[in-house]
Amino acid sequence: MRIAMIGTGYVGLVSGACFADFGHRVCCVDKDSAKIDGLNAGKMPIWEPGLEALVKFNADHGRLTFTTDVGAAVKGAEAVFIAVGTPARRGDGHADLTFVFQAVRELAKVIEPGTVIVTKSTVPVGTGDKIEEILNEEGVQEVSVASNPEFLREGAAIADFKHPDRIVVGAEDDHAQLVLREIYRPLFLNRAPILITGRRTAELTKYAANAFLAVKISFINEIADLCEAVDADVQDVARGIGLDNRIGPKFLHAGPGYGGSCFPKDTLALLQTADTAGVDQRIVRTTVQVNDDRKARMVERVEAAVGGSLSGKSVGVLGLAFKPNTDDMREAPSIPLINALTERGAKVRAFDPVAREQAAQILSGIEFAGDPYQAADGADALVIVTEWDEFRALDLEKVAASMRGKVLVDLRNVYDREDVEGAGLAYYGVGRGKIQSCPEAVC
Ligand code: NAD
Repeated sequence: MRIAMIGTGYVGLVSGACFADFGHRVCCVDKDSAKIDGLNAGKMPIWEPGLEALVKFNADHGRLTFTTDVGAAVKGAEAVFIAVGTPARRGDGHADLTFVFQAVRELAKVIEPGTVIVTKSTVPVGTGDKIEEILNEEGVQEVSVASNPEFLREGAAIADFKHPDRIVVGAEDDHAQLVLREIYRPLFLNRAPILITGRRTAELTKYAANAFLAVKISFINEIADLCEAVDADVQDVARGIGLDNRIGPKFLHAGPGYGGSCFPKDTLALLQTADTAGVDQRIVRTTVQVNDDRKARMVERVEAAVGGSLSGKSVGVLGLAFKPNTDDMREAPSIPLINALTERGAKVRAFDPVAREQAAQILSGIEFAGDPYQAADGADALVIVTEWDEFRALDLEKVAASMRGKVLVDLRNVYDREDVEGAGLAYYGVGRGKIQSCPEAVC
């Protein structure tokens, strides 16, 4: 199959490279010429495990190409995927569809009859209908519009794309269905479930999935708060409920609140859709509030751990990206935490294995460390914000020896209290029993 991918970001580039790896011929388009020049020179615009090798392999075999020229990309393509950003609109949280509609108008000038336009971007219910309206306005005929939301996770994007839990296809006509089945045939043969639905249903399924996962995270975070009040351990509670097949163990990790490029904006967009439809979604609305409050309140944990005031304190931060194995800083919990730390008078020295460059564009007034030990050096508290693997096996005695304050705030519950205390540090996890006040000896 010949495929054009409009938008070569986290989703477009991974999807394009994986489709090419299935044997299709894929042309990825982006309006950002620096990105395309970089890709043509073998330079990845994002950090994603395995991506560089996959892109290089398929580019070398002539199956994956990059251009800024939409016309050239869609020529002869059976399907054109739209994978441009759909950020939250400032002010009201609606999904901002400017990029999607712009892409459709550009496509309208060059698209050939028989092509299927597929939205892979996360778009609100009814967007496919609006795309059809635009195409009609522009006099385009015999082009199908389908929805194929993407469920990959950054940091594990290639594995997720190649071994999806399911593929959702929303198609209103047989031709679109057929083309998408053919594109996904290698996965279908691998027994990946493919769910064919109406287009509006597919659009909503993506939002419902993200909203549900956000609910799960906020749920366990509230249980973690309760654990701290009643002296119970949220890790064990999560395991105790997660082993129940009806619940499942995933997304039950208490922490600093969810961030990233999807959950925050997609929950807001779902609420906007619900408002427009006149149907309140109280659970999701509350989840958004719970998560916003949580992210804003993480600073208080650090403040309490260092004895009540951050003024003049030095805080080492481990992990800046919104989750491990990505350089994506969008809505990362590290941002409100670090901003609040500096506002309250703390000096911050932070380390992230790959997100430093992205973080430097967002965070000001902080120092960047070259490794975790440098971040800890001389600090009054060390805070684990993102659970990169390399933070899981730190030499805690070395950390403790170089710190001024001997306090570890583990917002991801990476460590066991005994190990940390054994190394001479006071331990503050999330939801792991009653929070003790900081012992005089270490604060
Ligand atoms: P991104 O910002 O990383 O990439 C979007 C790209 O589209 C950018 O490179 C931009 O330059 C390009 N673009 C915008 N308008 C264009 C146009 N008219 N022509 C060509 N290129 C254009 O975004 P992303 O994270 O890849 O997300 C894309 C969509 O996928 C969003 O709707 C998002 O919600 C959804 N999604 C993202 C993830 C994720 O993990 N990032 C997962 C599932 C779904």
